[in-house]
Amino acid sequence: MAIAIEGLDFHYGAGKQTVPVLDDINTSLNDNQITAIIGQTGSGKSTFVQQLNALLLPSNGEVNVNGMIITNKTKEKELGPVRAHVGMVFQFPEAQLFAPTVLEDVMYGPLNFGKTKEEAEAAAKKALQQVGLSEDYLEQSPFNLSGGQMRRVALAGVLAMDPETMVFDEPAAGLDPQGQKELLDLIRALKEAGKTIVMISHQMEQVLALADRVIVMKDGKIAADETTEELFSRPRWWFADQHLDLPESIVFQRALMVKGIRHFDHWAKNVAELADMI
Ligand code: ADP
Repeated sequence: MAIAIEGLDFHYGAGKQTVPVLDDINTSLNDNQITAIIGQTGSGKSTFVQQLNALLLPSNGEVNVNGMIITNKTKEKELGPVRAHVGMVFQFPEAQLFAPTVLEDVMYGPLNFGKTKEEAEAAAKKALQQVGLSEDYLEQSPFNLSGGQMRRVALAGVLAMDPETMVFDEPAAGLDPQGQKELLDLIRALKEAGKTIVMISHQMEQVLALADRVIVMKDGKIAADETTEELFSRPRWWFADQHLDLPESIVFQRALMVKGIRHFDHWAKNVAELADMI
């Protein structure tokens, strides 16, 4: 088990100004699985994932990252190994690109974590290869690339640290359909390469297509924590209750799934396309 969370409460602020956000979260993330975190805006998803690499510390309870226990007493200087274990890819990560070349940008993380220049360069080249960018890009400015390519460079920057777990906040947001598909394929490939993946998503198609397991958050609590099959076997009214949108294509895929026909690998855009597959 990569990460276990026990009795986690979290509030922003201090004293009388506190805003309670997470309430008694108990769960664990399985190694080498893709866990999707879903729930309406404001339900606590971003706050929750920031506990996984100690960007935020619990107010109560603990987060256990590969044997390293994080509580509200944990000191900043103890957090290096946690940050090395859990890589965080924020929304629109390309906004944080800064270096004059792709290679330098991706080397920045490993260099900062004490790698030599040679080691950092090797790690960066490997990461760029993993995200599907050839050597031709190494000396280019990241700012001349397409949106999808920039996002890959940003992702390579996290991957170059070789974290066992990677956390994505809306990884495909803002990309065109082709860019979205490529990015989701990449996440699937990272899982196949042995990574543990946590992914916040608003898109049920993505969840159905990628996730092994889903954690549903509502008002700072876990409303469901189960396999993707179990989740999508729930009745429609349950999703409405969580304020979760079920697009028509999903309703159709669910019907197929309940009948035991899984099309998780198919990126079907509409019902007609799915109907052709039966
Ligand atoms: P989600 O990712 O599901 O949209 P968030 O974790 O971003 O939810 O937010 C959960 C709640 O915490 C919201 O009510 C939000 O207003 C509040 N919140 C988020 N960040 C802060 C902050 N820095 N200070 C105070 N409240 C915050």
